[in-house]
Amino acid sequence: MFVAPGDREEILERAVRLADSSSSPEGSPGPAAATPDAPAAANAGAMAGGKSGIPAGAHLDAGLERLARVGSQAEILEIPDLPRLRAVADACQRCQLHETRTRPVFADGTPDARVMCVGEAPGQREDATGLPFVGRAGQLLDRLLTAVGLGRDRVFICNVLKCRPPGNRNPLPEEIEQCSPFLLRQLELVDPAVVIAFGTFAARTLLGSTESLGRLRQRTHLYEGRPLVVTYHPAALLRNPGWIRPTWEDLQRVRSILDGDGQEESMEHPEGSR
Ligand code: SF4
Repeated sequence: MFVAPGDREEILERAVRLADSSSSPEGSPGPAAATPDAPAAANAGAMAGGKSGIPAGAHLDAGLERLARVGSQAEILEIPDLPRLRAVADACQRCQLHETRTRPVFADGTPDARVMCVGEAPGQREDATGLPFVGRAGQLLDRLLTAVGLGRDRVFICNVLKCRPPGNRNPLPEEIEQCSPFLLRQLELVDPAVVIAFGTFAARTLLGSTESLGRLRQRTHLYEGRPLVVTYHPAALLRNPGWIRPTWEDLQRVRSILDGDGQEESMEHPEGSR
């Protein structure tokens, strides 16, 4: 989708107004803004596979059912396609979050996207709808992506954790360890040209880094040979509208990479991957 430069500024201004008009979002800095009511249409869409083109309800045979309960990380990484990966995630009991979730949130967007957006974990509304990045943070993300010519129908969106931490608390290390094979396999199967890590947890999980978000934003990284750009989480932008323009600039860097004129930027490999 082509968006003229003047229109991009207008979209950015609307995004800023959306953030300015937002009341306090959820308590966690990571997951998308939580609102209690889940639209019936979105709910029905999530149950049918959302907009992801990844159908829910792939047959969970005995082998996949075992993976959902006690599968090893290596076994999760060998699941051959997204429908079966989703089926295992939908039934997953590999960490304690399965006890408190309403439903897992696997992904949204298109499986053949050139851009993969990775956030932290579902919030309250995501938990209710089964879709990532809905509510005000999701609207803000959509506007920012649109401002650089990337609608939601042109990206693949998911989180590090597929299930909501109670009260939107931060993910625990053991939860990230158990759930990250789903994300890593999503990355392999979608095979995007560029990855965007929204927020500290996504960036640190993918890069194996303990650096601050501010430092990680300063350069383009390499993840498995593909550029990875780190930026702020949309939920954080709702509380700090001054971070919207820097985020937009990060997304413009993604646009430049996609357009083939950002390859000259210095890129760094994840720690320990060389
Ligand atoms: S958060 Fe991930 S590992 Fe934990 S139950 Fe949900 S899908 Fe399974």
